[in-house]
Amino acid sequence: MDAVGYYNGEFAPLAELKIPALDRGVYFGDGVYEAVRVDQHRFFALDEHLDRLQNSLAFLRIPFSMSRETLKAVLQEVADRVDSAHQQLYFQVTRATAARTHSFPEGAEPNLLVFSREVPFADVNEPRKVIVLPDIRWKYCNIKTLNLIPAVLAAQTAKERGCCEAVFHRDGVVTECSSSNLLMLKGGALHTAPADEHILPGVTRGHFLMLARQMNIPVVERAFTLEQAYGADELMITSTSARGLPVREMEGRAVGGGDSALLKKLQAAYQSYADDRMASAGE
Ligand code: PMP
Repeated sequence: MDAVGYYNGEFAPLAELKIPALDRGVYFGDGVYEAVRVDQHRFFALDEHLDRLQNSLAFLRIPFSMSRETLKAVLQEVADRVDSAHQQLYFQVTRATAARTHSFPEGAEPNLLVFSREVPFADVNEPRKVIVLPDIRWKYCNIKTLNLIPAVLAAQTAKERGCCEAVFHRDGVVTECSSSNLLMLKGGALHTAPADEHILPGVTRGHFLMLARQMNIPVVERAFTLEQAYGADELMITSTSARGLPVREMEGRAVGGGDSALLKKLQAAYQSYADDRMASAGE
């Protein structure tokens, strides 16, 4: 099958999957989610994603009691039912299905929705264009909740302007992008915003920082300004399906291109790290 869905124990072709109107994800966005790569039907970095999910669930106080093993088995089954060798699997946990009142309903169980479909990796050699927008999101961007309207609007604006992403800033200080992290190379060091509540701690971001440290590339986890980003040697975007995409235009201004050797070195290190991890065990 091309795309498969799952909801609370039932599997279905994704286009036919139905969920109840009173799932609190529908009317409050009262839930959290993750998106993970599946290649050759094996997960990449699933435990890192499940750790982050745990953190998001704890913040929202959603008592999701399914064991990690059972959850992994469900995710694996969804992935196995999809024919493609290159998938992105999405899963979300919402608080409950219940009549609409803001406070938590009593006694209702959380809901698990999963789906997977073919998504190729983005080409790491293609130069990208981005726009810049104020970060109008809430205060806890480290929590991966379903409330994504600012990200949705930003992604659409970027698309309308022929760009692949929107770089967010708060008062001129760069946070991240609408659905990815922004990393900068400057003077041979790798810079990125600290993993505080202004950004999602991207799994891919974490891997890039770990690899840079291993390669003795200085890592600076400190907020940088838009001005500094315009003056970067390189800017790159990271996410689960974007493994260090080079940014070469920001708001119509040429950026980056000043240290493509180091950029390529990092991209290659990431690629071989991912390949090795997948070859050894998956996950
Ligand atoms: N920031 C935001 C806002 C995101 O939505 C994502 C994608 N989940 C990322 C960063 C990148 O995270 P990851 O590398 O874990 O995909």
